[in-house]
Amino acid sequence: MANLHFHYGVMSSSKSAALLINAYNFKKNGIKVELIKPAIDNRFGEKTIDSRIGLSDTATAIPNFQNYIVGEDTRVLLVDEIQFFSPSDIDRLVDIADNKNKIVMCYGLMVDSNEKMFPASQRLIEVGAKLHRMESNCQIQGCMHLATHHLRFDSNGKVIHSGDQIALGDSNYKSVCRKHYNQMYHSKQH
Ligand SMILES: [Zn+2]
Repeated sequence: MANLHFHYGVMSSSKSAALLINAYNFKKNGIKVELIKPAIDNRFGEKTIDSRIGLSDTATAIPNFQNYIVGEDTRVLLVDEIQFFSPSDIDRLVDIADNKNKIVMCYGLMVDSNEKMFPASQRLIEVGAKLHRMESNCQIQGCMHLATHHLRFDSNGKVIHSGDQIALGDSNYKSVCRKHYNQMYHSKQH
């Protein structure tokens, strides 16, 4: 089994649910796990990972991995919202996976709403993480294509073309297919 994994997908592709189900199954088999999330993600409170379908578990919220000490008897580290960490945090996770012999499973977004990769996600690919795509459909009504992109909207419903790559909350975002992204992102009406 690979020891460094990146489960990636758009918003609303059930990434947190998959993390929680994996954690549950490991624990049921007596395997000690640690759940980690970035401290900047305050959507559901500091100390839990929650999914939209009602699953929840306690997690440790940390700003980065530089001073993080993984428990000796921990075998699996599950990290949510990995895109909010930095490339140097990924290097730290590589050290934990390879030199501390832990399985590290990262969950998060690949690209932002400007079709650019998050630096941590790029670093995971560079260091050879095993990639697992979480699939979901485009959120434009009636579209059945794979959602691969995010559109970010302002309060008037217009597409935002720039700004902070780090997204807090997802109420102003839609996960869409590439075709709808290109149509709406490059539309002259916006
Ligand atoms: Zn679409």
